[in-house]
Amino acid sequence: MPSSKPLPPGSTIGILGSGQLGRMTALAAARLGYRCIVYAPDAEGSIAAQVSAGHVQGAYDDAAALARFAAQVDVITYEFENVPEAAVTECLRHRPVRPGVKPIHLAQHRLREKEFFRSLGIGTADYQPIASDADVAAATALPGILKTCTEGYDGKGQARVATRAELAAAWQKLGRRDCVLEALVDFQGEISAIVARGLDSTTRCFPIGLNHHRDGILRTTTVPSNLPAGILATAERFGVELANGLELVGLVALEMFVTKDSRVLANEMAPRPHNSGHWTIDACATSQFEQLVRAVCGLPLGSVDVLQASRMENLIGDEAADWQRYLIDPTAHLHLYGKGTARPGRKMGHVTFVTPTWSA
Ligand code: AMP
Repeated sequence: MPSSKPLPPGSTIGILGSGQLGRMTALAAARLGYRCIVYAPDAEGSIAAQVSAGHVQGAYDDAAALARFAAQVDVITYEFENVPEAAVTECLRHRPVRPGVKPIHLAQHRLREKEFFRSLGIGTADYQPIASDADVAAATALPGILKTCTEGYDGKGQARVATRAELAAAWQKLGRRDCVLEALVDFQGEISAIVARGLDSTTRCFPIGLNHHRDGILRTTTVPSNLPAGILATAERFGVELANGLELVGLVALEMFVTKDSRVLANEMAPRPHNSGHWTIDACATSQFEQLVRAVCGLPLGSVDVLQASRMENLIGDEAADWQRYLIDPTAHLHLYGKGTARPGRKMGHVTFVTPTWSA
């Protein structure tokens, strides 16, 4: 049984995955006096290992390596939701894993995820499973977006379709894999709720950010969002209901659409720190990464008070080459992830501009 006692500073947190989210978690953990050990298949590309106390290299199906990793840590978390469920189950044999198996079981499969949202009373766009030619022939959620049930992220594994003929062609192109067809949402904006839930079931929702995507990739998050209070309250309620429904200890991000007629519809969730929460590092009383550390270690959750208005911009591909210009801007906080090669679409860093000199 997982211990319900707080893990004191000096304890070691294991992180499955080694990207920028693990890196920023390790930095926040170090500030509170914790050590992190990262587990990932690839030692060289591990940008989380660059700032961690240790690194275990192993495949996600290597039970012996996972056991070796678990033996070195007091609690385990993960920084991406596509870590294989079996790896988390294996870790659970040795140590508490927070936020647990259920959140990734659901987040790894778009259909399961949407059914779970609906079961909690969280609204979604109309959707239907596409798993056969008969499903294609009967599809009504058009125009829509066809998405693979598994392994899609940042707009990958998706196709916009207007007619059944286009749907048939797109499904063919996606390899006739299990998919979900979602009705296209005519939205006025995209938002996200990031909710922490502690070991004692306390929840805290960070102020809702307004997100702007391009080509399926998050470009900016602005806080405060200046959306009506009723919309923000619904979004927060959905986020908190999700965290409670998942019974998670850790963080969950819920991405949502705000429709032109002011409804809030859930799109997808991620049971981990989220790109749309990076602004919290520079403009909130507690960062999302520190909040994760507090939750998984059984500490009291931190304040989510906004200290400054902010706009976070991702630095994607070559954009990070401009890093020097942010250093001379007094409103800019620069974060670079230590990644070697700047490929198109690759998140290389982000910059958070704080009030008062930016204009949205
Ligand atoms: P996803 O991979 O589901 O997060 O989708 C990436 C982006 O595509 C979203 O942030 C939206 O900008 C857009 N998108 C996804 N699903 C829909 C939808 N049903 N209607 C309109 N836009 C969508």
